[in-house]
Amino acid sequence: MNNPVRSKLSDENLLKETFDASKKEKQATFELLKYLVQVDERRAYATLDCSSLFEYVVKVLGFSETQASERVNSVRLMRAVPEAEDKIKNGSLSMTTASQIHRFSKQEKKAGNVVTKSETLEIIETCSSQSKREVEKILFSKASAEAKEAQEKIREVSEDLTELRFYIPEATFKKLNEVRNLLGNESLKDIFAQALDSLIQEKRRKKGMVLEDGNNVKPCDQTASTAIASSTAESNSTSKLHPSTLPAKEKFQKKIQSRFISIHTKRIVSQRSGNRCEYINPKTKMRCSSQYKLELDHEFPFALGGNNEASNLTHKCRQHNLKAAEEWGLCKS
Ligand SMILES: [Zn+2]
Repeated sequence: MNNPVRSKLSDENLLKETFDASKKEKQATFELLKYLVQVDERRAYATLDCSSLFEYVVKVLGFSETQASERVNSVRLMRAVPEAEDKIKNGSLSMTTASQIHRFSKQEKKAGNVVTKSETLEIIETCSSQSKREVEKILFSKASAEAKEAQEKIREVSEDLTELRFYIPEATFKKLNEVRNLLGNESLKDIFAQALDSLIQEKRRKKGMVLEDGNNVKPCDQTASTAIASSTAESNSTSKLHPSTLPAKEKFQKKIQSRFISIHTKRIVSQRSGNRCEYINPKTKMRCSSQYKLELDHEFPFALGGNNEASNLTHKCRQHNLKAAEEWGLCKS
């Protein structure tokens, strides 16, 4: 319909046309989700050099990361439970709720539990037409203890501040209260900083006892403790991400033959990388930053004697991990 200038519409017509426009937007969003299901099934995004559907939605379709995450999660829910489609279409299941439900299943899976299709359907039924906050509460009450404990969030909110969010069991909460009483009700961030200082000192002391070269602290330990103590996602080590810029091979040689990487080391790498691919194109100097299928890559390959310390580990997306292996003349399956 040919629209007269909106400012000249009567209130009644303005509201009617706004309602119609909103209906069209919802229909268009639903259409987009159906297209994305196909794109995802065929992995058609790969033809455009995108390593994931998420990357495609951000880089090619131009959505923000939050919007992309909602769309991708909704697509995954629609693929896992086709019955969700009708609910999204008729509006009883919003994209936000669909995304929350899919994230819930993913967290459970990560914790080693499988949310079956019938359980998911039941959850969809309970969460339909509820507010985001209400859905959060419902899902939290349904989450397994393992999944609750595994939920950790590290988010950089400014250049010098990072938000940490995690759940602690009652026993740990009791310890926290005891420390608070001992220290005289200090703030959580001060207690956290002091606890980290003590832990770092203890670890350094322990490591110092097994060092053979007489030094108290190895260079890689220094990197590790700085990363933790500053509590910010630093990327200072990304400058040495290419084999050609690596320091002497000896520095990275492992002292043990195990592939085991401790949670502590993984956290240091996560803090540094921000959980994004650290690959830097040697020509353009552009960092990849993809979050898709992130893997820990040994800068100096494990197969060639590289060690499992944080200074020899980087986060790489699947594609760049394979590329790095190729550059070293290795083949990763
Ligand atoms: Zn990458």
